[in-house]
Amino acid sequence: MMNQPPLIDPFARAITYLRVSVTDRCDFRCVYCMAENMTFLPKKDLLTLEELDRLCSAFVGLGVRKLRITGGEPLVRRDIMTFFNAMARHLQSGALEELTLTTNGSQLEKFAPALAAAGVRRVNISLDTLDADKFARVTRWGRLDQVMRGIDAAQAAGLRVKINTVALKGFNEAELFTLVDWCAGRDMDLTLIEVMPMGDLGNEDRVGQYWSLKEVRAHLAQRYTLTDLAERTGGPARYVRLSETGQKIGFITPLSHNFCESCNRVRLTCTGDLFMCLGQEDRADLRAPLRAHPDDDAPLLDAIRSAIAAKPKGHDFDYSRQRPDGQVSRHMSHTGG
Ligand code: SAM
Ligand code: SF4
Repeated sequence: MMNQPPLIDPFARAITYLRVSVTDRCDFRCVYCMAENMTFLPKKDLLTLEELDRLCSAFVGLGVRKLRITGGEPLVRRDIMTFFNAMARHLQSGALEELTLTTNGSQLEKFAPALAAAGVRRVNISLDTLDADKFARVTRWGRLDQVMRGIDAAQAAGLRVKINTVALKGFNEAELFTLVDWCAGRDMDLTLIEVMPMGDLGNEDRVGQYWSLKEVRAHLAQRYTLTDLAERTGGPARYVRLSETGQKIGFITPLSHNFCESCNRVRLTCTGDLFMCLGQEDRADLRAPLRAHPDDDAPLLDAIRSAIAAKPKGHDFDYSRQRPDGQVSRHMSHTGG
């Protein structure tokens, strides 16, 4: 496994970042992410924790330096700490630079100390509003006080917290300054995300939800002084610093800004499908070589290399004609946001 050549795609992008969805299930039903009556995958289709370990370790052996665990809600996967504790060995060996997760925060009160002990240093927590009623509306099943206790627990455990907020027209527009000031007061960074056309949500009006981050930025500039930061993470985020609070704000703008040229990441679903691009249907089945060759990693490594050799140049999302063109059929909770 050691001394493998790194993963470089056809557009000379080094693939060093793997996002892994460990479950498609969730204890919330956010209106932009899931339909209320979701059908979840049968258990037999899911990778076991041992299979997830083997796959992630293969990627680490191929030069992946950053692993983000997501879902669905990663912390509702049974025995998930077994997996985090297993990945800790790659941090300890120095092969992995960062092990992190994106969570809705509902289970952090329980898990934050164990995550910190496993070597997690930072966590992204999704939160779209500070109003308990609105929170219940947007998550359908979530409770704000539980998430707040999760955020407290994460900070108490020494985890650096970044808040992810989906910018939703007519929903959290008026709360933007409150959210910024609240994050500043708790020394948390904030990233604002444009809503993306993922999956069938039943009756939800997706174009109606869309609030362009260009507008959000202009709105912020009415109150704060924004300085663009050169920092790039290889993903769709761009950062500014607010002079008044000193805080860093990220903008994830897959729809209004093309970020694909610096893309360094691929996404693994909980069924072992590797998606080479968030906005394309191209995928590679890694579960088949994994299960067919339980004692030999060579076919799996070949499958990973072939998949990276087919990574598309970019995505086709476009709302400009008032319909979500380039829409992909899977839900964000399947690929992992
Ligand atoms: N359950 C965890 C959470 O909510 O953080 C992790 C998975 S969730 C799919 C990851 C991120 O994707 C969240 O920040 C969520 O707000 C975002 N997300 C989900 N559906 C989205 C959509 N259609 N457009 C943009 N962001 C979306
Ligand atoms: Fe669950 Fe996260 Fe999707 Fe909300 S955004 S339904 S918390 S997976």
